[in-house]
Parts: sequence; C-alpha cells; structure tokens
Amino acid sequence: MIDLVYDLVVRNGQIVTEDRVFAADIAVRDGRIVAVGPTLVPKNNAGEIDARGLHILPGLIDIHVHCNEPGRTHWEGFATGTRSLAAGGVTTFFDMPLNSSPPTTTVQALKVKKAAATRAAVIDYGLWAGMVPGNIGQLAPMLAEGAVGCKAFMSGSGIEEFPAVDDRTLLEGMSEIARMGSVLAIHAENEAVTTWLAQSAMVAGRRSAHDYAASRPLLSEIEAITRAAACAQATECRLHVVHVSSGEAAYWADAVRRQGVDMTIETCPHYLALTGDDLEQKHGVAKCAPPVRSRDHVETLWRAVRDGVVDVVASDHSPAPPEMKESPDGDFFAVWGGISGAQTTLNVLLDEGYWQRGLALQTVARVTASNPARRFGLYPTKGVIKVGSDADLCLVDLSARWRLEAGDLCYRHRQSPYLGRMFRGRVVRTLVRGHTVFPDPEDQGWHGQMVSPGVLQAA
Ligand code: ZN
Repeated sequence: MIDLVYDLVVRNGQIVTEDRVFAADIAVRDGRIVAVGPTLVPKNNAGEIDARGLHILPGLIDIHVHCNEPGRTHWEGFATGTRSLAAGGVTTFFDMPLNSSPPTTTVQALKVKKAAATRAAVIDYGLWAGMVPGNIGQLAPMLAEGAVGCKAFMSGSGIEEFPAVDDRTLLEGMSEIARMGSVLAIHAENEAVTTWLAQSAMVAGRRSAHDYAASRPLLSEIEAITRAAACAQATECRLHVVHVSSGEAAYWADAVRRQGVDMTIETCPHYLALTGDDLEQKHGVAKCAPPVRSRDHVETLWRAVRDGVVDVVASDHSPAPPEMKESPDGDFFAVWGGISGAQTTLNVLLDEGYWQRGLALQTVARVTASNPARRFGLYPTKGVIKVGSDADLCLVDLSARWRLEAGDLCYRHRQSPYLGRMFRGRVVRTLVRGHTVFPDPEDQGWHGQMVSPGVLQAA
C-alpha cells in the first residue's frame, strides 16, 4: 500500500474533462494531481477544499493575451493582467510579442520579457516569438529559448515596431518554423484590401464605427486565411489562425484544412457575444480587428464551436489606456483596436454557450484547455484533470447569476464590453499547481513559471 500523503484534497466536486463530467475528489501533492477518485481522505494536515455544488474545470489556457510588459505596463502589465486571468479561471496564458517595448522579436527581448513575467505573473505563462520582416534568423534562437511558437501579422498590427509580413517573409519564416517543429500563429487579414477601404472611407469623411467595420470585410479575412494556408501547406509549417471572426471564416478555414493543411482555428468570446450593434452602442470598448460581425455570423460561429471546427477559444485581451479608446473628434479609425477580455472568457462560454445554447461542458474544457495544451506541446501536464497533471483547477458555480461591475475587474483599466451585463456561471476559485491564486492568493511571494512545448524541451 502506497503511503497516501496529500498536500490538498478538493472534495465533492463535479469534474469536467473534454470527455465527461463525473463526481470525484482530487488529491494534490507537490503541485500535481496524485489521485482522482471517490472519497479521498486527507491525512497529515492536508488542506481541504469543499467543492460541493461546484464544477471543476481544467484551468483555462488562454493562448492569446497582450500584457504589454515591458515598456507599456501602463496599458496593462503582468501583475494586473495575470490577476485578471486568474479571476477568470485561467491558469496558463501565452503573451503576445507586439506591444511590449522592445517587441519580442529578438532573443534578448524574449529574455527581458521572461524576467519581467517571472517577477510579476501569478499564473503560468508562455511567450510568443514575434516574426517580422528581417528577423527570420532570430526565430530559431527564440524557440530554443522556450517560446511557444511564432506570431505574425498579414495586415498592420497598430504597432509601428511590429510591421506586417510580406509574402516572402511569410514563406521564409514558415520554412524556418517548420524546420524547428514549431507553430506559426497568424493574424489573417489582407493588408491591401483593408488599407484601401479604410483610406477610401476616411477621404470621404466616413469615420464612424460602422465605416470602420465595413473597411475590414469578411473577404479580407478569408483571402488571407487561404493564402496563409497555401503557404503552410507548401512549407509543411503548422499554422494557427488567431481570432477568426465568424462562422463563415471558420468553416472556410476548415474546408482548406481538409486539403491537408496542419491548421488550428481560434476564435474569441467577443465574436461569440457581440455584434455590429454593440460596436455602434459601446463604441471603442468593443473595437477590435477583425471587427465583430452580424447576429447571423455569431450564430454560425457557435455552431462551428459546437461542431469542433473551432479548436480554441482565447481572449485576445488587448487593453489600452481609456483615452486611447475614445475618439473626441468622431474618428473611429483613430481609436485603439483591442478588447479587454482576459477575465470573462469562461463567463461568455458558460452563459451564452452552456446556458443559452446547450453547449456541452466537455466542449468548453476542450476549447479552453485540452486543445490548446495539445497544440502547443503542454498536454497532459496542462489542460486536463488526471493523475500526473499539474493541479491547475478552475472551480465554478454554474448556477450563480451575477452582474459584472467595474469593481469586479482586476484590469489596470476597468474597461469591458460586458460591464453591467448579467451572467450565469461564476468562477469561485482558481488554483495553479495546487496553489490558490483567486480570490484570496495564499502567498504573496508566489509566482508563475514559464511553460515551453515539450517537443522543444526534449530536443
Ligand atoms: Zn491579439
């Protein structure tokens, strides 16, 4: 008989994995799950959490977050950003490379960001390596340093130091990323189309929210996804399409994928919850690129999530100081494009998905945890609740009805397109490697660890 010494037992909860929902206790030792089963008895002063009436999901892995540190910490920063993520049930996140200063396009910049994140992050983190024209030689060193993958823009990023790739850079970079066995995450919009339409609108004095949305049509997204996929197939590069904005784009990408492209498809909560009407009413706080679409597109996108066409739901949390989200002269094109959403991904999936559309909890676990863990080489250490995995847990009261108020938000700037909205389903506790980080962090000295794809660790 093995001596069952646990640090912590989480009792009486309903465990959710991508396959099933079942009643069991979870025992934790040294940050890992060491037992899952009925009636696990804590011994030797082990801690105990009573999860009666709660569901326990694998901690979310949010692979699309802009914390903007170092250099633009006044936009968000790792301390506030990761507290917000923890409040949303997220236990691991990947930080995007563009808004930090310097941008994460060199191995030196990656090391600087790693040090900043290690100091301030309260959950585990991965770092994206930026791919821009002229830095292909930096990709391999950044991946060897532990980056989770590379990220590039096919249209302007809004950050001057992080220019879009041309087709040559795309092909050369993909060849290099394929050689390293890594993944390219791509912002897929057609630069020529979006620039032309935006300039035409602005010259004509059409600068409203509606005009902005019209300047980034679905065609631009579908064309860019198709071009990226063709390049990925030619170079045998693994591709991840970030923030697909509509079901139509997702199904299009899926059709291309069926031609043999190794591609995963991501969408974000705002494309599942907001429409063009919200953009006109809520204004800057709901601006992003590609823009939120029509009600029909929202419903088709939910179908794509349910059908498994969408692999990952990530926040694309991209905050900015409030003054950058306003346009006193009515020029919506000048407003910073990025939605604050780090804290509300699961709320949208539970309220709009599980409660309103019958989305299975297993699907929620799949798109927020197990799929991202698999795609980026973290599975089964992350992304699942089973023996041997990290004890990254999100405890949820599915039935709680509550209204999101500014005071609930842990962001540096308390902005959200969902302020004042009722949700059903609330995160009540988040644990990273067995350590409570929300609502009351156990230990102020606690900090997150960097995660890297297993394939690279082994190499
Ligand atoms: Zn983004």
